[in-house]
Amino acid sequence: MHSQYDHIIVGSGAGGAAAAYALARRGQRILLVEKGRDLPRDGSTLEVARVIKQGHFKSKELWLDGSGAQFAPEEYFNVGGKTRWYGAALLRFGRDEFAADAAFDCRPWPIDYAEMEPFYAQAENLLGVHKFPIEPGLQEILSRLKRGGTDWESQPLPLGLAAEITTDRTEAQHFDGFASVRGFKGDAESSLLQAIRPLPNLTLLTGAPVSALLAASYDSRAVRGVRTEDGAEYYSDTVILAAGALHSPRLLSDYLTVTDQHDRLPAARHVGANYKRHVLTAVLAFSTARQSDLLRKTALLSSARFPHSSVQPLGFSTDVLIELLPGLMPRALAGALAARAYGFFLQTEDGSHPANRVRAANGHGLPELDYDPGRTSASANEHRALTRAFRRALLSAGFVSGAQAIPLAGTAHACGTLMAGADPVHSVVDANGRVHGMANLFVADGSVLPRSSRVNPSLTIYAWGLRVGEHLAGRQP
Ligand SMILES: Cc1cc2nc3c(=O)[nH]c(=O)nc-3n(C[C@H](O)[C@H](O)[C@H](O)COP(=O)(O)OP(=O)(O)OC[C@H]3O[C@@H](n4cnc5c(N)ncnc54)[C@H](O)[C@@H]3O)c2cc1C
Repeated sequence: MHSQYDHIIVGSGAGGAAAAYALARRGQRILLVEKGRDLPRDGSTLEVARVIKQGHFKSKELWLDGSGAQFAPEEYFNVGGKTRWYGAALLRFGRDEFAADAAFDCRPWPIDYAEMEPFYAQAENLLGVHKFPIEPGLQEILSRLKRGGTDWESQPLPLGLAAEITTDRTEAQHFDGFASVRGFKGDAESSLLQAIRPLPNLTLLTGAPVSALLAASYDSRAVRGVRTEDGAEYYSDTVILAAGALHSPRLLSDYLTVTDQHDRLPAARHVGANYKRHVLTAVLAFSTARQSDLLRKTALLSSARFPHSSVQPLGFSTDVLIELLPGLMPRALAGALAARAYGFFLQTEDGSHPANRVRAANGHGLPELDYDPGRTSASANEHRALTRAFRRALLSAGFVSGAQAIPLAGTAHACGTLMAGADPVHSVVDANGRVHGMANLFVADGSVLPRSSRVNPSLTIYAWGLRVGEHLAGRQP
């Protein structure tokens, strides 16, 4: 089947859906090609056993780590991408996080905060971002932390959740790591794609993994479309990669191999490099009192001692927390502990290092993710100190805690593998998302982030996707 479109977008997650939204509403003809399918609306995406225990909806695709061991990254292939499963903590990066920070190996953005501001505002509006009151159980923990004389500051956390979610206990207790059935969570599918799916100028192709980018016949520095795994080819004026930071760089790397451009395109050596994911630790705090908060994830904690870090509660209720406790523990004991537990998620910005990278398989074996947090030692050191200090503060406040570092498979916050920057010597895409040296190939997903920041990435990815879309809609063919 042959088609002609203004733009082909590969992937319907945060970045892809945002670019599609901006372009479709400006009347551009779009083909949005998505590897996965629509998630079921039968309630199964809210079932703890199916989602957490069996990992039924997670990708089973195998990768290799830097030492050659196999693992399955925490990826989700479905319409809306990982946003259908995310915890909807939607925060702007700080103004300072658009500049370089050499001591932390942080590269600068090619644009400043003011340039992103209108797109942040638009994304917040579309996703229904607002703050909920901090719930009593969490407020008690925060007050005890303060009484303990520590310097932890807290503020309400901006969330992409509808206010009505609190009227549905099942949805309210299962939004972080689950996919909403009733549309209470602002995500790429419910907040962006649903608004444009009825438009005649948008075609959404699901269950169609893109396997290759196609070169223009006149010059391989221009693409003419994509090929999907079933061999079908689709043609367009521009192609926008938005398959996520583990996948977009592999499509581009394969293209550079096939067109023999690895040595000719200056940006080529950065394709797949500078992988970032945050240095992450989950902490469970136990007290003698039973916890009964509904959403739980209502505050953001920070400390001036750890400027590249932040702490958020996990939106996990007792039935989810019980699954995080060691499997060998008697069920009754695990249940009693989980009922008295509050989860926290500690994240520290990781800097950019060229050896932390994604490698395409190029048809020979499995793809590879080589990442060692030790390569960005400033981040690793701050995170270690953060975890120690937070657990010590919890203990002084009367909470015993357990901590678990999130392993390499935790790719939830994957970013940075097609980094944006001012020039091809240091980056892959320019300030408008165009691949340096390529005429019509753009990137709209988390791959572009030069910095991972001290907070979660999605709002910035949505804002970037909207901005890339607006840029292309205003551009002459
Ligand atoms: C459990 C969990 C909790 C999270 N919580 C938060 C949070 O609270 N706040 C926050 O900001 N972030 C959170 N995140 C992270 C957030 O979901 C990601 O940062 C965001 O979704 C990344 O957007 P993206 O567009 O780069 O990629 P994705 O959302 O992953 O989208 C990529 C899309 O491309 C598709 N695709 C892949 N390969 C191909 C191909 N070859 N052809 C066609 N399509 C393809 C995929 O199926 C997918 O739909 C969380 C993630 C998880 C998993």
